[in-house]
Amino acid sequence: MHWLFGDQLGPHFLRPSQDSGLTRDTPLLMIEARSVFRRRRFHRAKAHLVLSAMRHRAAELGDRVTYVQAVTYREGLETAAGDSPVTVHHPTSRAAVRLVRSLPQVTMGPARGFLVPMDDFAAWADGHGGRRLRQEDFYRWVRQGHDLLMDGDGPAGGRWNYDHDNRQPPPRDASVLPVPGPYRPREDEIDERVRHDLDRWEKDGDVSFVGRDGPRLFPASRAEARAALRRFVEHRLGAFGPYEDAMLAGDPVMSHSLLSSSLNLGLLDPAECVERAEAAWRAGDAPLSSVEGFVRQIAGWREYVWQLYWYFGEEYRHSNVLRHTTSLPRWWNDLDADDVRARCLRTVLARVRDTGWTHHIPRLMVLGSHALQRGWDPAEVTDWFHRCFVDGYDWVMVPNVVGMSQYADGGRMTTKPYTSGGAYINRMSDLCGPCAYRPGERSGEHACPYTAGYWNFLDRNRARLERNHRTARAVRGLDRLADLAELRRQERARGDAPP
Ligand code: FAD
Repeated sequence: MHWLFGDQLGPHFLRPSQDSGLTRDTPLLMIEARSVFRRRRFHRAKAHLVLSAMRHRAAELGDRVTYVQAVTYREGLETAAGDSPVTVHHPTSRAAVRLVRSLPQVTMGPARGFLVPMDDFAAWADGHGGRRLRQEDFYRWVRQGHDLLMDGDGPAGGRWNYDHDNRQPPPRDASVLPVPGPYRPREDEIDERVRHDLDRWEKDGDVSFVGRDGPRLFPASRAEARAALRRFVEHRLGAFGPYEDAMLAGDPVMSHSLLSSSLNLGLLDPAECVERAEAAWRAGDAPLSSVEGFVRQIAGWREYVWQLYWYFGEEYRHSNVLRHTTSLPRWWNDLDADDVRARCLRTVLARVRDTGWTHHIPRLMVLGSHALQRGWDPAEVTDWFHRCFVDGYDWVMVPNVVGMSQYADGGRMTTKPYTSGGAYINRMSDLCGPCAYRPGERSGEHACPYTAGYWNFLDRNRARLERNHRTARAVRGLDRLADLAELRRQERARGDAPP
């Protein structure tokens, strides 16, 4: 019998191979473990999506699968398999690997759903002889190894990196990006059943959720995920590059792919996503800058984050070099956006509450940046992102939050902390215009909480950041602030009230 976890749902997890022990007709096991939802307060739309996807997959697999609803995985396994041998692909979290290793009848094969085997990454990283690992170097190595966007030995179009052409502010005077909308699925009777079960569990006091469970927005089956990929590549990929970092209050999706939850549920194989994008460029249907930008996200960032989760080891998740220990305030935990006056944060937090998704820049430069500036405990911030985002899993959250967003690893993943004053948000969005605060003001009644928070962050961490060549200049700017004392007083008074 072969056990499929709830994020191993696509056909590539069933390809027969010797190292997995899988054949064309190996019986399959799926376990829906209620304890997962009891342990933490997840976004309800996320719980809905995961259960819907598992049940859709079980319906597709028919008699080949035994689908068990149990309190724990251990109990489900005992019910379905007893002591019989079971195989499983390497799961995606350290906790799940520990569980699998503790079960004597279970044999674990290599991971699937990523481009690079873990051992190959470890050999590449070890080959750096202790030098800092750079995502850009890794990405180029993956491009070469997988012959992705390559012309012979060189990068297609002669350049590895089109960041310079990408990352533009939103088009002036546009309230939405002029591109066709993303694929949206239609709910079916499986969703109805899931919603009914979630209602019942909540009513029984068995579980508690946060956020709204509106109509399901993300694919729950392979057919839906393929339709979403097709729609993105055919209609939206062309605009991906230039506006990948831009934000518009009225257009939360911009031209992002919305494929993260499908990739992370295993409904899509990353290889098919990047190959489709490359084929669109080769057919003349999308510009290279956008295609390269998209390929970079998947073959570069997604893959890098997955590898670092394992490579950096068990202790990495507890990193906290800035010694940030403040707990998340209740309004944040409850996704209570209505009390927030800062328009950018209110807009983004409401989006998380309503859908469990925002694109990368709101995650990094609005949510994460605020948490970093306030000195919130990085482990709590990681847990919050994991619970509240439809695409959140341990492997992807730990490096993205501990490393990229909270700089809690002291720079093992990024060269500098990702945080900024309101000027960045103002340049890259239309969010500041009607806000109660002004991005250019750092103290006083209209002080932008991001601008004040930025200077306060530099001030608090001066000793560390003046030694970093990427932040040293900004730190020196503190000496020119005539209102530093007022800024400090104001920041102390602000506490953790919604800004
Ligand atoms: P697009 O912008 O269309 O990008 C295409 C794909 O690239 C994504 O679907 C995703 O699979 C991949 N990708 C790009 N960047 C990353 C990255 N840094 N890490 C992993 N994959 C990446 N991504 C998740 O999949 N799950 C998370 O829980 C998650 N949490 C994040 C938390 C923080 C604080 C930050 C800064 C980033 C996080 N990301 C996470 C990365 C990224 O923000 C999302 O993958 C992306 O916003 C999902 O939207 P999309 O599918 O439209 O992505």
